[in-house]
Amino acid sequence: MRKNKNKAEIHFEAGPYNYIGGKWSHSGNSKEVFENRNPATGELLSVYPQSSKKDVDCAVTAAKNSLEAWRKFPAAKRGEILLKSMKLLMERKESLAQGMTREMGKILKETSGDVQEAIDTAFYYAGEGRRLFGQTTTSELPDKFSMSVRMPVGVCALITPWNFPMAIPSWKIYPALICGNTVVLKPASYTPDSARHLVEVLEEAGVPAGVVNLVYGRGDSVGQALADHPEVRLVSFTGSSAVGSKVGELCGRVLKKCGLELGGKNAQIVMEDADLDLALEGALWGAFGTTGQRCTATSRILIHEKVYKNFSESLVERARALKIGNGLNPHVEMGPLVSEMQRQTVDKYVQFGKKKDRAKLLTGGEILNKGEYEKGFFYQPTVFAGAPEMKIAQEEIFGPVVILIKIKSFEEAISVLNNTRYGLSGSIYTRDVNRAMRSIRDMETGITYINAPTIGAEVHLPFGGVKQTGNGHREAGTPALDIFSEWKAVYIDYSGRLQKAQMEEVKPK
Ligand code: NAD
Repeated sequence: MRKNKNKAEIHFEAGPYNYIGGKWSHSGNSKEVFENRNPATGELLSVYPQSSKKDVDCAVTAAKNSLEAWRKFPAAKRGEILLKSMKLLMERKESLAQGMTREMGKILKETSGDVQEAIDTAFYYAGEGRRLFGQTTTSELPDKFSMSVRMPVGVCALITPWNFPMAIPSWKIYPALICGNTVVLKPASYTPDSARHLVEVLEEAGVPAGVVNLVYGRGDSVGQALADHPEVRLVSFTGSSAVGSKVGELCGRVLKKCGLELGGKNAQIVMEDADLDLALEGALWGAFGTTGQRCTATSRILIHEKVYKNFSESLVERARALKIGNGLNPHVEMGPLVSEMQRQTVDKYVQFGKKKDRAKLLTGGEILNKGEYEKGFFYQPTVFAGAPEMKIAQEEIFGPVVILIKIKSFEEAISVLNNTRYGLSGSIYTRDVNRAMRSIRDMETGITYINAPTIGAEVHLPFGGVKQTGNGHREAGTPALDIFSEWKAVYIDYSGRLQKAQMEEVKPK
């Protein structure tokens, strides 16, 4: 958990709880708890149970027991409950955003966006209740009708990270529910309040007991036990590639359905014909939004040599001027990192960049821990001039660090952009429509932006990446329905005789 010098001795009553089978209760099997602290101030916010495998068992059993009734409840009616939850989220948007900023640090504008993403997702999948389209098609045989329909998968385990504490759980919960599945959510331990707030909203909206369950605890115990549980039919995981590959392996062994949304090393290209002011705004937002802790964060900027000097100088100047502080302050542009551990990781990369990669540090590179920053996990916005093969230009840092790389041509830019193990998001700033079209064709990414930063996905489009960013599934939009449902092909023969597909000789009469 977060380490903080300022361990205020605030005592909570046996705190907020797991939610299993429609009841909020403390882990019945573990006395251990973890603290939830504000990464900007060290303030103790809440305490949650460090649950055990037995709690996972109880939650999966509750989800299993409620599956039959929920899957038979009409999808349109399920959608009405989702719509009610959307209205509750709208009413509470401001306080939910404040709570989120308090527990994970990103600025209020961004946490409001996070809640808005949950609202949009609820709205989108509520509507799916009256669609969930299958196909009707022809048959090769006479007097035979063919169609395909979506079926629920069963009990789904949802394992989520802390950087989008409400948006990412909502991306999983809403499509899962509309398809008729029941779920157990294991949120990241840095953002337990936001997960609780979302589940409270679902409960109030009328989601029946046992349909949504929430279990807190460590990834390597609770998360792993959940993914491994024999009654869990599907694991939807968002997090690091290192953990994702373990979860994938676990699921692969027992042929369990598994959706993995993992890391990124995203690049923004700035061509010599770009609107440089626009590209600069995009770069700042992409690199330092959410303090660089986004899977889609811009961590490399590939700049054409003709504009490199001008662009890099402007970027450094603007990065230095960013107002850093507590995200609750509306003037602050960049909050703290989520934890001391995350700050140490970022600093290790920065030190490696300076000493081993021999990248040129253009600004930043220091921990901020004096004065107003004393109690939080702050770090300077950091800009390096580097080269494509450097470790800091290859590995996901997940902090406010961006590497500038000089390129000579469009072809070189695309080749450098593609030269990582990840393939989540890529962006290009250019006024040349041909280059824009070629970028769409040639970027090895799940998301491509033209004249926009690498961040800014919308909920009705597919979200995810290629290569080691995932295992080929997509969240959001209609593709998410393909994770949370199974296709069933249906044949209705009304000929009154045995017709043998591929073996009948059918002739016109
Ligand atoms: P993480 O992999 O450390 O943890 C993610 C979740 O997995 C947490 O709930 C954690 O408790 C759980 N977990 C940890 N070990 C586990 C195990 N052995 N078995 C099962 N569950 C386990 O990631 P994080 O630090 O929370 O999030 C940051 C990472 O998430 C970054 O790599 C980022 O790129 C990625 N991310 C990806 C997307 C995407 O959609 N592609 C979105 C957001 C974040």
